[in-house]
Amino acid sequence: MGDRIKGALQQMRNATVVDERVFTECLNEISRALMAADVQIRMIGTMQANIRKIVNLKERAAGHNKRKIIQQAVFDELCCMLDPGKPVFVPRKGQPTVVMFVGLQGSGKTTTCAKYASYYQRKGWKPALVCADTFRAGAFDQLKQNAEKVRVPFYGSYTETDPVKVAEEGVERFKKERCDMIVVDTSGRHKQEAALFEEMRQVAEVTNPDLVVFVMDSSIGQAAFDQAQAFKQSVAVGAVVVTKMDGHAKGGGALSAVAATKSPVIFLGTGEHMDEFEAFEAKGFVSRLLGVGDLSGLMDRIQEAVPLDQQFETGKKLQEGNLTLRSWCELNQISIQTMGPVLMSKGGEKEGQAKFKRYMTMMDSMTAEELDSTNPCKLMKDSRINRIARGSGRHLHDVHEMLEAFRKFKEMVPAKMLKGLKNSKSGGMN
Ligand code: GDP
Ligand code: MG
Repeated sequence: MGDRIKGALQQMRNATVVDERVFTECLNEISRALMAADVQIRMIGTMQANIRKIVNLKERAAGHNKRKIIQQAVFDELCCMLDPGKPVFVPRKGQPTVVMFVGLQGSGKTTTCAKYASYYQRKGWKPALVCADTFRAGAFDQLKQNAEKVRVPFYGSYTETDPVKVAEEGVERFKKERCDMIVVDTSGRHKQEAALFEEMRQVAEVTNPDLVVFVMDSSIGQAAFDQAQAFKQSVAVGAVVVTKMDGHAKGGGALSAVAATKSPVIFLGTGEHMDEFEAFEAKGFVSRLLGVGDLSGLMDRIQEAVPLDQQFETGKKLQEGNLTLRSWCELNQISIQTMGPVLMSKGGEKEGQAKFKRYMTMMDSMTAEELDSTNPCKLMKDSRINRIARGSGRHLHDVHEMLEAFRKFKEMVPAKMLKGLKNSKSGGMN
């Protein structure tokens, strides 16, 4: 879905004049993409109407920048669609909270349970994990392994086959042990759907969860709405976690899951490791959905944030393949001012910013020759790297890491992205 929306926006960006026809085409394309992703038609209708209203309202005042307003309106509306208008559940310390995870097998429940428990443990809670999946052989071992990794107590059974019983016993035990965040992992067996939903109902009945979390694999696409709705109909789903965001999927299905469960997304799973877990943030998510989390929105941001002269200089350097450490640094500053450090952040925004700060310190210890070289990786001999590390109080590998990030960035910048910038100089920035 993200690619289609991105395509529609891109088309609009490329058009010289944004007239009614281009605007309508763009909206229709976005709508088709959302529909294909099973987002409710009513929601799409509302989105269209809202975007039209916003654009018309501002039309007179901002004839010079309609394109930007449309982009912003699409962005805002998608953020809005991710907000079910219900506050995120906040557990209260000092009383036992039970959180039950549901979702189909393979969606990432067991992994997410452990990540969730670990997240609260790091915040000073006393979590525990209960394995109520007695269906799949090895389920308990998997939970145990994860629990041991994050050092969270766990409960399960190799012999008991009744998941309801195990869930009840586990929750009881950890309540007695004064755990305040009791996480219940469930089975998500395929094929016997009716039995699965009945099982979820029963586990919920005995454990009386404060929150039921629906776990969704980001790559399921169109199936998201039905899957989420099916779970919502059997248990009171109150939150969504979208996993495998490190894969190819942009997670468009999350919009459907929010619509189907009327619940907010609370976390994203971004890898198999226990620390690859991010608190959900709608703006970042929509950026990623629209593709601006990578490079495609870069030129717009440069256009918005930087005076034309400077834009041209920086853009020209990029275009000619003459990117230097200095201009790379400028680009990062631009992106931080506008959207967060997108140029080198694979991890979260915070990590990107911390990295960027480190790079800045190291650049302070560089000579003009080094900063303005178009091939600093070649120029940097060991003696220079030593000097920079010493001067900035960083390790040698930090300097290497920065040079590597620079090299990768340079490789990544495709020439077509620079076209927009060239056009902007010739007056195409209406
Ligand atoms: P469950 O059947 O719902 O309990 O799913 P699991 O937790 O067993 O996860 C299924 C597979 O997906 C496992 O191989 C996990 O390591 C993997 N997995 C879970 N979450 C993520 C994620 O965020 N990113 C990636 N790349 N893999 C994940
Ligand atoms: Mg599991």
